[in-house]
Amino acid sequence: MSPTATLAWQDGQPFSTTFGDVYFARESGLAETRHVFLDHNRLPGRFAALAYGEVFTIGETGFGAALNFLAAWQCFIEHAPEGARLAFASVEKYPLACDDLIRALSLWPELAELSEQLINQYRSLPAGFHRFVFDKGRVTLTLMIGDALERYAELDGEVDAWFLDGFTPSRNPEMWRPELFFLMAEKSAPGASFATFTSASFVRRGLADAGFAVEKVPGYGHKREMSHGVLTTPPEPAWRAPWYGRPAFKAKDKTAIIVGGGIAGASTAASLAARGWRVTLLERHDALAREGSGNPQGVLYAKLSPHFTPLTWLLLAGMGYSRRVLDTHLIDARCDWQPCGVLQLAFDDAETKRLKGLAEAGFPQDFLRLVSAADAGDIAGVPLEQGGLFFSEAGWLHPPALIAALASHPGITVRTASGVLELDHGNGLWTARASDGTLAVGEAVVLCQAADTVCFAATAHLPLKAIRGQVSELPATEKAPLKTVLCGEGYIAPARRGRHTLGASFNFERRDTELSADEHAGNLAMLAKLSPALFEGLDAGSANVETLAGRVALRATTPDYLPLVGPVADAQSLAEVYAALGNDATQKLTAPAPWLPGLYVNAGHGARGMVTAPLAGEMIAGYLENEPMPVSRALIDALSPNRFAIRALMRGKSRGKT
Ligand code: SAM
Repeated sequence: MSPTATLAWQDGQPFSTTFGDVYFARESGLAETRHVFLDHNRLPGRFAALAYGEVFTIGETGFGAALNFLAAWQCFIEHAPEGARLAFASVEKYPLACDDLIRALSLWPELAELSEQLINQYRSLPAGFHRFVFDKGRVTLTLMIGDALERYAELDGEVDAWFLDGFTPSRNPEMWRPELFFLMAEKSAPGASFATFTSASFVRRGLADAGFAVEKVPGYGHKREMSHGVLTTPPEPAWRAPWYGRPAFKAKDKTAIIVGGGIAGASTAASLAARGWRVTLLERHDALAREGSGNPQGVLYAKLSPHFTPLTWLLLAGMGYSRRVLDTHLIDARCDWQPCGVLQLAFDDAETKRLKGLAEAGFPQDFLRLVSAADAGDIAGVPLEQGGLFFSEAGWLHPPALIAALASHPGITVRTASGVLELDHGNGLWTARASDGTLAVGEAVVLCQAADTVCFAATAHLPLKAIRGQVSELPATEKAPLKTVLCGEGYIAPARRGRHTLGASFNFERRDTELSADEHAGNLAMLAKLSPALFEGLDAGSANVETLAGRVALRATTPDYLPLVGPVADAQSLAEVYAALGNDATQKLTAPAPWLPGLYVNAGHGARGMVTAPLAGEMIAGYLENEPMPVSRALIDALSPNRFAIRALMRGKSRGKT
């Protein structure tokens, strides 16, 4: 885990006590940034030359106090034409605490309008990838927390211009290594440029060895020399499993059909619309959010593993992203979104061990911290018998309100009562049909129908399964003024409009949506275990399970409990093209995957859709726009809809042997 930066303030300027160096030049930081990083990557001219819809990608080492990012963003606003977009990827080993960032950025009043937007979205940053969206989607920031070498190796994206920042090489030799320069070359788009404030000879040599033509030029003002250059000898592309790669799909008109009006569909539609796509969102019911995303309260809940599994990385990236989406889409809507925190209680020995492991894993305290039973009770406003982990930046939301906010974009046409029966592809276009005619036409189609995503021939092979879940509703009482979400084997949220939601059952046997007295009883028993005092205070013992209010919905899950996010290949041809994996699973096959052009899925989010589906929408947009991805390459592979088919092919070998 990356600890927060430790700063000293010298004459009002930030100074790193870890590295013994300044974040930027004392008098002229902004002018120097413009000279070194913007002008020597020729950004004003390159931004001005962008076409409508084109994306320019900057990669930076050392996000620090965001001065370079904000200066690049400002330069983009000034020079880039309408419709062009900026993708900024940066890495930071020691993220600034929010208060330090605010203090550092107050030094640049001319960037105030932009820094305010960053600060509004800037919270605790655990290790891994974090996606920020600014200016209604015109600018995205992919902030990777961790060591530059480790994180850039995980980036899936192509950089047009590099800002090689970081403290002075002599004070930070760990970062300025040949491996970093080779990674930069590997992650470069054709003709990529770089600029750096240093002219240290080993840096210039290292960059030249990696394939950059390097030039030494005067630094800012009377400063020492700096270096800049262009990638002239790109490396041979490293092998990447083609069944997990990106399809070479490029939309001409940017039109898409999204099937399914829950959190996955609305999030995907919003991510595409923010990038200038015209989206038709098709929903079979007479309103959005009628199935799994229709519960009165959903929780930003992340059951993390101290072993940092792919699911944990996804939840870490998703928690922060969903919080930013809520803050930017449901501002001041207190009855629809409350960042009241989430308490995960240590309800048995295994859970106590897991929570303790997480508390020792070095997460920022604002993200999660261990609390005693007494402290947990103070936070919750009701007596609790166990302590646990407190996620102070999480909370509950009213999912239908978020979905409505995401779908209300001028680029999105919502068509309800529009169940899709058939999907056809021809002449580069997908057509979605109902029994009585065409519903929508688009170059891409994204299926976001939870377990029903398998209802088309092209996706029938995907291993999605429905699990029934029932929530119960209990009226709030003055005796039990719950102030935070409580989670154990289930959850209960603070009251919304006078009612608490608690749940949810997991029932693999039934697929109907009738309320069940047994499942109500199970939810009440869960509450009694979570907090006997709350159970009592809410008079839950006298609730009649035959008449109690509640709601049933089906969630979709997969055999490895990770969602399916990404492009879809033709199942039959995939098995043929990669049949050789059955003989040797380690073969570096290169045949391109038989992608179905423009067909993607975003489904299987289980009970965690509020945390994972919005980020998955950004992933789909990353695929369709060929942008840097908001998660690591390992996670892209772990979520690939092809993974089960490929694993089955690979297992063919061991089956043959034994
Ligand atoms: N670009 C920043 C700005 O515009 O405010 C200033 C960067 S500051 C001079 C250098 C940054 O590099 C620090 O925030 C430091 O924590 C980060 N850094 C140093 N070594 C690193 C490494 N190996 N991986 C990632 N970040 C690193």
